[in-house]
Parts: sequence; C-alpha cells; structure tokens
Amino acid sequence: MIEIDPERLLKDLSTLRSFGAVGNGVVRTAFSDIDMASRRWLAEQLANADLKASVDGVGNVIATTEECSRSLLIGSHSDTQPTGGWLDGALGVIYGLEIARSYTEAGRLPGIGIDVVSWMDEEGTYFSSLGSRSFCGEFTDAELFELPSVQGGSIGDLLQRVGLGETSRSILDHDRYLGYLEAHIEQGPFLEKTGHRIGVVTSIVGVRDFVIRFHGSQNHAGTTPMNLRRDAGMAAVRTIHGLDRMLAATARDKTVWTFGEIRLHPGAASIVPGEAQVHLQVRDSDEGFLDLVTRQVEAHVEDFGRSSEVGLELESLQDAVRAVEMDDRMQGYCAHAAEVLVPGEWMRMQSGAAHDAQILASKMASGMIFVPSIGGVSHDFNEDTGADDIVLGCQVMAAAVGAILQDAAK
Ligand SMILES: [Zn+2]
Repeated sequence: MIEIDPERLLKDLSTLRSFGAVGNGVVRTAFSDIDMASRRWLAEQLANADLKASVDGVGNVIATTEECSRSLLIGSHSDTQPTGGWLDGALGVIYGLEIARSYTEAGRLPGIGIDVVSWMDEEGTYFSSLGSRSFCGEFTDAELFELPSVQGGSIGDLLQRVGLGETSRSILDHDRYLGYLEAHIEQGPFLEKTGHRIGVVTSIVGVRDFVIRFHGSQNHAGTTPMNLRRDAGMAAVRTIHGLDRMLAATARDKTVWTFGEIRLHPGAASIVPGEAQVHLQVRDSDEGFLDLVTRQVEAHVEDFGRSSEVGLELESLQDAVRAVEMDDRMQGYCAHAAEVLVPGEWMRMQSGAAHDAQILASKMASGMIFVPSIGGVSHDFNEDTGADDIVLGCQVMAAAVGAILQDAAK
C-alpha cells in the first residue's frame, strides 16, 4: 500500500500555486517565465524523491524511476488558462509527486516504478496538448518546429525563444508503461450536485468545431428598405436559431453545443452588417453521433443558404478532438479504490472537458479520476475544491496505483 502524507501534499500544492498566484487564482500560461520557473521547481522536487527528472525539449517535466524497466505514468498539466484556477491540472501533477515520493519511501516493488509527468500547454496557449502529443510521437522534430502557433509564428520559434531549441524530447517507450493515470478537478457541477466525492471517468467527449460565414451587403441603416437588404447579421441570427432547434431535437442525454463567437462586420449601430461569422462547437462522447451531427449541420446550412438572399459558407474545422473511452481495467482499479475509501460516495461519469489522457489513451491503458469543483466553477480565479476532497482524491489515486503495481509484480 502507498500511504500519502496529506500535509505535504497540501503544502506542495500551495507552493506550486505561488508561481503566478493572483488573488485566489493563478496566471501561469504555458512557456511563460513563471511557468518555466515552476517546472524547474517541480523537477527539483521529483529529483528529491529519487526520480530522474528533467524538463524536455517541448517543456514537459518528465521524471522516471531509472532502475525500473516497467512503470506506471501518472500526472497532468501545470500550465493554466490566462486567468486560471489554482487546481485545474496542478492537482494531478502534485498527486503524481506525492504518490511517487510515498512509493519511494515505502520501498519499491522490484523492477516496477512510478514515472511522473507535467505536460506542456494542455490549455492550448500556443498548441493544444502540445506536450502529451509530443510524448505520444505525433510529430517528428522537423514537424514539431513547423507547427503553427495559435499566437502566430511557429512552435520552433517559441522553443528557441524559451531556450529549449536544442533540448531533446522524451518520447513514449511502449514496452515500459503499464498505463497512464490522471487526476483532475471535475470542472463541472455533477459531483457536488449529486453529493459524490470521487468521479471515475468512463469517457472523454469528442469535439466538433464549425465556422459559418455569411456574405451580405453592407449599407446605410436608415436609407436601406427592409425588403432590399442582404443583412448578414440577421441571417446569422436565424441560422443560430435554426441550428439550436435542430440540435435540441437530435441531442443525446449529455450532448452540449455552444455558439461561443458571433462577429458582425463592421459592427456599428447605423450599418446593416455586410459580413458575419458564427462559431459553433458540439461535444459528445459518441464519435458516430458527432459524425451524424456534422452531416446535419452541413445539410441545415445548405438548406438555409438555398432560401436566403445572403451567401453562406460552412467550414468544419479539421483539428477535431476524438471522443475516447477510458480503459476498463484502469476504471476498475479506480472504482475499487473509491469504493473501499468512500463506499457509495463515488460515481462513474464522462468528462465534458478535454484532457491529456485523451491523447495518451491511443497509446496505452489510460484512466482518470475527478474530485468535486465547488460550485462547478473552473477556468476562473474562483475555482476551488475542499481540502478534504483534495486529500481523498490523492488517497484514492494512491490506492489504485498501489493495486496496479502489485498486480504487475505478480
Ligand atoms: Zn486542466
């Protein structure tokens, strides 16, 4: 069994929080000076726990138990949103540190270790889940350097700027890993609302993004009669209304959709908008359903375009995030640990947010647990979780990890 130290866990979480703390929240976006400083601090703590730790060529902190040929990988990400919460992925990273340290102290099983990771840029400040994608071998060095950054320029420029241009990357060793476990705050209201203290993740939703562009005629808002207008703004609003009704009629139990961005051009009170743009995002845990929704959105936009005086154009964004199932055995270990520690106070649930485990799941058996988010708040300075829930989450994870390692040793 791995016995964690609750006080040490909370202290390390609060030290990590101090890197970029602003009020109750944290500003520690990927590759910022404060993010890089926090990664060097984390690598030091992992080295003190008798792991071989370094910041790799893409900014991942990777710590390995060197003398072990097989290992369980645990961790999450420690970068934040521009105005982020203090726990988010930091929780799972410090769980990794505390569990690996406690395992070292208890005496390791022969040949079986725990490796700990803090992935770089899960939040997509420059490139979404850059660190876990790099580790999973999604790109060669040349491809990595040429990746376009969300902020403009290339990832190569960025890595040069932060001094990682010449550093080698850690890439997954298939024979080494027993699997990957990640803990995270729920970032939603289900656990709190239903009075559960632990969530065992069954699947992580896939995401489909669509941009719809409307091409009308810009004109004077006072002199252009209604029947002669080609109003791109009104066409956008009608399309949103139609798509919303269509999605409501098709949706499964936990399907969610968002029109998160609506732009009118030129966007002035006395001008009929000549151009408009709408961003629609749909999330669901079933890939087949997401494909069906994609066809329905395409058909709806085409239909609307035929009867509209305004030109419509639909773009399905290419970097779709695919829905994944968490590994059955990993779910079983987490569920068993939760049932032993808090009988009846845990539940199985899907994740509505994307996570690094989604990337890892294509390469190895992966599992996740959630702890409750107070008020369901996340990606906000007010994000929080009770200390007792933070400690319980780590204990559940430690129990699951202990069982996985013991079974591997048999
Ligand atoms: Zn996160």
